Amino acid sequence: MVEGRVIKAYNSFFYVMTEAGLVSCKLRGKFKKRRQSTGVVPGDRVAIELLPDGTGVIEQQLPRVNLLRRPAVANLTQVILTFAAAAPDLHPLLLNRFLVLAEWSGIPKIVICVNKMDLHEGPWQDFLRDYETIGYPVVRVSAQTGQGIDVLRSRLRGEVSVFAGPSGVGKSSLLNQVNPALTLATGHVSEKIKRGRHTTRVAELLPYEGGYIVDTPGFSAMEMAELQVTDLPHYFPEFRPYEGACRFSPCSHTHEPGCAVKAAVEERSITRERYDAYEQILQEVKEAQMLA
Ligand code: GDP
Ligand code: ZN
Repeated sequence: MVEGRVIKAYNSFFYVMTEAGLVSCKLRGKFKKRRQSTGVVPGDRVAIELLPDGTGVIEQQLPRVNLLRRPAVANLTQVILTFAAAAPDLHPLLLNRFLVLAEWSGIPKIVICVNKMDLHEGPWQDFLRDYETIGYPVVRVSAQTGQGIDVLRSRLRGEVSVFAGPSGVGKSSLLNQVNPALTLATGHVSEKIKRGRHTTRVAELLPYEGGYIVDTPGFSAMEMAELQVTDLPHYFPEFRPYEGACRFSPCSHTHEPGCAVKAAVEERSITRERYDAYEQILQEVKEAQMLA
């Protein structure tokens, strides 16, 4: 048996990257019945049996660390939340929504990437420093001038990364910048999109310097409805040191007396901007759940 990672799945074929190279595999019949409800998806680690003809059979699906569903991709190690400094302007609340989704997804590393720095340098610096203080690395880049691309490249090395963020911020441009060899693959994806919106989007892992880059956006703000209201505070890492000190447990950190999170906002240990984003997103999650 050989272990590997599924980097692409089409119909009943799975392309598994192993130490010996890429192997085209099918699923073992009896395994299909026992598989997890989502089946084997790109990113999954699997054990395969190599056949004499050079193809393989997937015998076992190894445990997953995390799973994104639209499109399905497993075992991401990093999400690059991509925004633009201008055109479209960085939208603080949208950034916070994406941060919440990223925290919720269980992907261990979250990086904020601000593209189009060639258009706009100034006003976001103080804003972004607040996020660095929380612990989110911020990479400032321009796909156009190449500024900061080496920093982005070093962040991608050895990781399994996905670029998420609103459309038009330059995700495809950045993908092409970090590795021109990806151009072919992204072109291939737009072919799939052109075939019509009824075509199911599939994710593909593109090998990149000891790791992979996923060729589809990780998630969209549409997924907020799936969050649990009571979990929301956990997705604001800077709230964590205070939560245990709230008088009530659980505490929504809104109307309760003796709330340590609100006290931290008054003391400016938590920024007003992030707390307001929390309240706003809490409201949105509640509304989404009433509609669902
Ligand atoms: P995506 O929707 O996030 O994949 O964004 P695209 O990569 O398609 O880029 C959207 C538009 O922004 C295109 O017209 C790009 O040429 C432009 N663009 C991308 N990166 C930069 C940049 O760093 N600076 C400037 N000025 N424009 C950029
Ligand atoms: Zn509280």
